This record gives sequence, C-alpha cells and structure tokens, in this order.
Amino acid sequence: MSRVVYTLLALLLSSCISSTTGPRGDHRTEQDLVPDNARRLLEAYPQQIARYQNNEIVFHSGTRLKFDDGVKRTIDEMHLEQDIKDIFFQEYDTTRFPPDYGYDPGRYRSAAFFDEIYGATADEVIDSLVVVNWCPRLGGTPVVFTKIAGAAEALQRVSDELEQHPELAPWVEGAQTFNYRTIYGTERKSPHSYGIAIDIAVPHSHYWRFSYPKASEHDEIEYLNTFNIKVVEIFERHGFIWGGRWYHFDTMHFEYRPEMFTTPQNNSSENSPTLESLSPETKS
Ligand SMILES: [Zn+2]
Repeated sequence: MSRVVYTLLALLLSSCISSTTGPRGDHRTEQDLVPDNARRLLEAYPQQIARYQNNEIVFHSGTRLKFDDGVKRTIDEMHLEQDIKDIFFQEYDTTRFPPDYGYDPGRYRSAAFFDEIYGATADEVIDSLVVVNWCPRLGGTPVVFTKIAGAAEALQRVSDELEQHPELAPWVEGAQTFNYRTIYGTERKSPHSYGIAIDIAVPHSHYWRFSYPKASEHDEIEYLNTFNIKVVEIFERHGFIWGGRWYHFDTMHFEYRPEMFTTPQNNSSENSPTLESLSPETKS
C-alpha cells in the first residue's frame, strides 16, 4: 500500500474516532451527552439551569441535582417521591382527551427541582411574587404570581388574550393563585405553593376528590368536565397545563409548566398505567 493510501486511511480513522469531539475540540465522554428530557428542561428554564453534566442538572445558583436516580418507581411511589426525570413520566398530549385511566401528565413534580427553581420556603417564594392584573375588563381582580421563569409574564399574556373574548367572563372569576399549602389529602406541596398555579371559575369546575370523596387514586372514576375549552386553549398557548387533562381531574386548575410544551425528540412516551400494572396491595 502506498504512503498516500496509508495517510488517507489514517485520516479517515481519526475522523471516525473524533466524531464525539465537540466543535472546539473538547473531548466529550458518554456521560456528558445530554438526555433529551434534560435538554427540554434547559430549554424551558434557561435563566435557572446552567447545564447538564454527569447525570446532574447544574443550576446557575451552583446547586446540583441528580437527573436520574436510577430508581424505577411505581405510580404509588412516584406520588411520594420523584426524581427529575419523572417530570416527563407522561407527555402532555392535547389530543388525548378525555384522559384515560391513570393519565395525569404533569402531575408528577420533583419537589427538589421546583424548590430550586421557585424557592423552597414560603418566604423565598413570596420574594419573587409580583402582581398580575388579571382580566380587569372581564371583572377579574389582581392576583400574585411568581416572576421566575417568565411565569407572571405568561399569565399576563393569558389575561390579555382572554380579554379579547367578553363571552369568557364567567370563566375568569374567583381567581386564586399563591397559597403555601399541601395538595388536598396528601403531604405533597401544592404547585400553588410556588406561585405558578391559578384556579378559576370554581363553581363551574370539577375536582375528582370532591366529586368522589371515597375514591382512592386507584379507583376507576368517571371523568367530569364542563369547562370551556377555549379558555384551556389560551392557557396552553402560553405554557400552562390544565388539570382537566388529568384522569384525576381538577378542571379549575392551570399551572405554568413550560417544560411540558417543549418538543421531545422521539415521541415514544406511552406511559399510561393499566389496572393490572398497579401492585395488588395498592388496589382498593
Ligand atoms: Zn389549583
């Protein structure tokens, strides 16, 4: 073989070997490759998250949280504890309606992650609350919302858009936002504790725990909703998920969750549990 051929082969080989080398020649290891769902968090919270590194979400504050703790949890376990990857346990799919058994996209929230983004104590959250002039032309009243991650600005955009539809006035009434509390019937912190959630039009709404006071998380329940879908679509356009897309419906509830509206690289999440997939002792 001629010297030229050897040189060409060597060049080809080196280009194959260095295919994981970054544009500036930094050698990346397998661990530095960013999982798609970590990439989606970076996209949704760029002011809070600096980077993903070695299975950790690294915040601008310096805090590092494990992205995937390696634990595969059942739904029951996920209600008590989640890691960050579990946020994406189910994709928020606006075409999947009404929600089928166990489909509660966005209802699994990593407390450690949201504590870091919005504040871990009431005082920390309160420091970031600002006033949103909620639908004044439709009879709404000002509410407080966190300014972090663009949440208050997003709620103001929702309000501005709702105001273009006077017929929606009954749906914006009685808005309730920040409330440092646990989720009814649980020990888990409510998203209202972070100033990222708003409940509206309570008299026109349905909440599964109030509709079925004796039902457990595992029971099959009938979906109930009379909420105006136009209101829902406006919220969703601005990064809010709706509790009416949950099997465990909470139709008054909207929650700012921009990560749920980022686009996954491969749409392979089909994670609805079946009655059979729940452990027997947890069925009731
Ligand atoms: Zn709520």
